[in-house]
Amino acid sequence: TKVDFVKFFSGIIERFEMTKEQNVTFKRNLPQKPIYVKIDQDKLTQVLDNIISNALKYSPEGGKVTFSVEKRQQFIEISVKDQGMGIPKKNVDRIFERFYRVDKARTRKMGGTGLGLAIAKEMITAHGGQIWATSMEGKGTTIYFTLPYEPSEGEGR
Ligand code: ATP
Ligand code: MG
Repeated sequence: TKVDFVKFFSGIIERFEMTKEQNVTFKRNLPQKPIYVKIDQDKLTQVLDNIISNALKYSPEGGKVTFSVEKRQQFIEISVKDQGMGIPKKNVDRIFERFYRVDKARTRKMGGTGLGLAIAKEMITAHGGQIWATSMEGKGTTIYFTLPYEPSEGEGR
């Protein structure tokens, strides 16, 4: 179904903001105007839930998580940025593999199965988008994904 992604994303961010237990601040970089996308809301909720829970899970005390949506040609680019421990360069692309977890020690402490981002990749690909990550060890991680959007009336001319 067709939904305003900005509104949809804001709702999810708000839910995490109300229930989070960590001392982490949220920053939103969201467009003022609606952006319509054709998505399966349950699946996109699952994708965002995992990306945001990861960001919170790896955020330091007092850290900031930044949520952005940017309009590109034909796509919107969504990102979730944290100030956590980061991921070594050589491992960063592997986090989208099934059961992949960066290291066993951090994993035992943090829980989880290592499936979240593999499922996210499948779902974003099925929606015609792409997903990737950038990270700096000790500085933080940003997860990006794109979704095709529907130009609204009067746009794209
Ligand atoms: P699950 O999502 O199934 O509960 P998980 O969170 O370990 O388990 P993924 O979400 O697929 O699995 O993430 C895979 C691995 O990538 C994580 O175990 C972690 O090592 C690394 N990772 C993911 N997001 C971040 C992040 N924001 N900061 C640092 N490491 C991350
Ligand atoms: Mg996860």
